[in-house]
Amino acid sequence: MLWDYQQPVAIRFGNGRVREIKDVAAEMGLTEGGLLVSERLFAQNGTAERIVKDSEGAITEIFSDFSPNPDVTEVDKAAALIRDKHLKFVVAMGGGSAMDLAKSAASIALTNDSITEYHGTGKAMPQEHLPIIAVPTTAGTGSEVTCVSVLTNRALGKKAPIVSDGFFPSVAIIDPELTYSVPPHVTASTGMDVLSQAIEGYWSKGHQPICDACAIHAAPLVFKYLPIAVAEPDNAEARQKMCEASVIAGLAFTLPKTTSSHACSFPLTNIHGIPHGEACGLTLDWFARVNKDAQHGRVQEFARAIGFEDVDAMADAIHELKVKVGLRTGLKDLNLSADQIADLVRISRHPNLYNNPVEITDEMLQEMYEHLAATD
Ligand code: NAD
Repeated sequence: MLWDYQQPVAIRFGNGRVREIKDVAAEMGLTEGGLLVSERLFAQNGTAERIVKDSEGAITEIFSDFSPNPDVTEVDKAAALIRDKHLKFVVAMGGGSAMDLAKSAASIALTNDSITEYHGTGKAMPQEHLPIIAVPTTAGTGSEVTCVSVLTNRALGKKAPIVSDGFFPSVAIIDPELTYSVPPHVTASTGMDVLSQAIEGYWSKGHQPICDACAIHAAPLVFKYLPIAVAEPDNAEARQKMCEASVIAGLAFTLPKTTSSHACSFPLTNIHGIPHGEACGLTLDWFARVNKDAQHGRVQEFARAIGFEDVDAMADAIHELKVKVGLRTGLKDLNLSADQIADLVRISRHPNLYNNPVEITDEMLQEMYEHLAATD
């Protein structure tokens, strides 16, 4: 087996470390021209302004004009601001949406291109980019340590990741206190994304030993701490452990890449508005059962390594976790028509599907979506 491992992001983890943004920037020689891409809540509640003030002139602009599952037009707007103000670095403080927008904007700002030239077209991103300091505010995507930027083109009805080495942030500052304000349903959904990334990173065709170890570390933390973080938003231990799981699951999947559940999540989010992590979790137990005997027993080994008797027991636990934290286990309320199910099957045929260790046929997808369509 041949494998390469590289992880270029410096990680600073712990409560209160958001206050280190200025020091981190200074250590990188960045003393002026900073853009803070900030979650709207933090722009509204004074946190963003305080960070700008504390930066003593290093950060001069705030951009918070973007939506969850950021649109390509929002990336172009952020890039235009960077160009107009001749900005030199980007601090991305928010969930995956803020960080992914910042990554793409920090690359295309050095060109005159629109991100639409690269999104879903296969054209390689320019390698030059502004330095990024990533500050996640959800325990979810792990985007702070990945080379992925997931964008949506609402005009074309397309959601897809772009992958580029230039998307790796220079530094990730993970401050669990920033996640205390995440509402329970967002906590549940983003936490399910963590579990999906760990599990899919492990069983991906691109699996490798260091990422396997990260997946085995991250997944049990989600089973244990996600219900606590949902029920008690201020529980410091649960928030900290979910942040730990999130960054380590990010490391688990960024090189192997995600697989079937992520492929199916894109149309579920795009067409039916189901939040990203909830959409991933919806099919995770189904694919666990499909993949259970793949890779000469590796998936069974994973289930045992994280404390289950076998993959079926792990799949049952994923289902129970969804029920416990209030996430969907089916799509019955959407009253899906045969045409809508056919669309889901067709659009799930995303490149990530081909990383799945078992070949997924249209008949399998049809059966899965029909089952979900009939399930509460
Ligand atoms: P998000 O960034 O879309 O945020 C979800 C909601 O929570 C938003 O309404 C946001 O305003 C709010 N929010 C965020 N932080 C908050 C806080 N601290 N307090 C209160 N509210 C807060 O959600 P996400 O799950 O973090 O990111 C999802 C996006 O990331 C999707 O587009 C997904 O496809 C993408 N993604 C990217 C990667 C990657 O490696 N780049 C990996 C997985 C998913």
